[in-house]
Amino acid sequence: AAQSNGNYSKYLTKIPEIKFTQLFINGEFVDSTSGKTFESIDPRTGEAIARVAEGEKEDVDVAVKAAREAFDHGPWPRLPGSARRRILLKFADLINENVDELAALEAIDAGKLFYWLKTQEIPQAAEILRYYAGAADKIHGETLKMSSEHQAYTLLEPIGVVGLIIPWNFPSMMFLMKVAPALAAGCTMVVKPAEQTPLSALYYAHLSKLAGIPDGVLNVVTGYGSKAGASISSHMDIDKVSFTGSTEVGRLIMQAAATSNLKAISLELGGKSPLIVFDDAEVDQAADLALLGVLFNKGEICVAGSRVFVQEGIYDRFVEKLREKAKTWVVGDPFDPKVRQGPQVDKKQFDKILSYIEHGKREGATLLIGGKPCGETGYYIEPTVFTDVTDNMMIAKDEIFGPVMSLMKFKSVEEAIQRANATRYGLAAGIVTRDLNVANTVSRSIRAGVIWINCYFAFDRDCPYGGFKMSGFGRDLGMQGLSQYLQVKSVVTPIYNSPW
Ligand code: NAD
Repeated sequence: AAQSNGNYSKYLTKIPEIKFTQLFINGEFVDSTSGKTFESIDPRTGEAIARVAEGEKEDVDVAVKAAREAFDHGPWPRLPGSARRRILLKFADLINENVDELAALEAIDAGKLFYWLKTQEIPQAAEILRYYAGAADKIHGETLKMSSEHQAYTLLEPIGVVGLIIPWNFPSMMFLMKVAPALAAGCTMVVKPAEQTPLSALYYAHLSKLAGIPDGVLNVVTGYGSKAGASISSHMDIDKVSFTGSTEVGRLIMQAAATSNLKAISLELGGKSPLIVFDDAEVDQAADLALLGVLFNKGEICVAGSRVFVQEGIYDRFVEKLREKAKTWVVGDPFDPKVRQGPQVDKKQFDKILSYIEHGKREGATLLIGGKPCGETGYYIEPTVFTDVTDNMMIAKDEIFGPVMSLMKFKSVEEAIQRANATRYGLAAGIVTRDLNVANTVSRSIRAGVIWINCYFAFDRDCPYGGFKMSGFGRDLGMQGLSQYLQVKSVVTPIYNSPW
């Protein structure tokens, strides 16, 4: 079983002051119309750390009105791109200046590793702002020759008021991944963070005001998905919704868009990504990659490499390495620098993962490592690896969203491709091999939005990212991420015989 540090209480006192708990609408922090609030829970203890305003339909309506006004009459979409760039750069600097506080807030709200947040995730999220700041004054259309009688050019215009609905697993990253390109494009927006992790979004809203983003451009409505979220997806005055979360909710969003104003949508949904390790792989490195692929962020990551296919020639050695390495993977308080895995985000997720583990045992898979909760308080689960998994087992098909790996053996390249593709999802895949032909063949044959060859989770702001199949459509990040927030307008003029 995995080794945990056993001391879950030592770091519990490090709770930062929680300054922002109200909705952020039209540049002000305000209570919800109903006055209702909900609890935000520290997953290390299961105890409430704050009460946060519960926004509902009325609040979304007010926020959309502010965003509409800011879009139709405010300066933001009309500013030269260079002016938006300067403000986004200031916003990014403010994030870096407050990184300690933001990281602590996120660690207690989401159970994510404090040092990772502080040194990697939040600085990288600020870099996303800088990346799109650099794009803000380079949004150009094309010149079109058309037929001999007309010529045209295209204008890329901001799509309008956007609704951004984000999940709890990467609250900072997701917030900025969607907000940054929308701001650069000149859109105005209503952001709905997940009810499990509302705190950092409100902090970012505060920083956006300090940076000089005009009132009404960036609004944050905290609250539940079925109320605040659904009011966004069915709103008649929102032009586009960008959503990241579960496939089930993605379907609801698409329905709501269809039955309201046919707003544009992009969906980044679940996954069950394969990591394929070929016989020529260096076993030690491959085992490290496989463990990281499923345990990073406690498995709460849509691109988790949760199906690991290992070729038969190295399978036994791989299993031994994995067992050895899993022992050194420390589970515990996310403020402890030795810890690599904190608690699952909430009780619901914790119970769901444990029930999948029980299901895996009942289905006849062999528990190689882990399989139990750990720690006296909070939602900690041991890193868990199942062997003897078959493709039709539920643990091999469903997104578990926890630290649970299904390990499977394969013989040929063709078999690996066929089995890796035998899923309704298509978000990511990993390939470990030194053979260029194998890497090329497999990467072109897998139907997924990102393929990592001899690496995993190699994200970058410059690399578009999104799904095939039921993992959704549309891309975040890269210049494709910017185009999600732009409309194309063709302007056509005759060349000869103008009537005037
Ligand atoms: P979810 O899809 O329920 O929640 C994501 C966001 O959507 C949250 O902000 C939520 O409030 C909102 N939402 C919920 N119902 C809504 C509705 N009817 N209309 C509009 N918005 C709504 O995800 P979850 O319950 O937090 O997690 C469940 C599963 O989703 C996870 O186990 C995992 O499989 C998957 N997930 C995927 C990602 C990803 O990055 N692709 C992220 C988080 C969760």
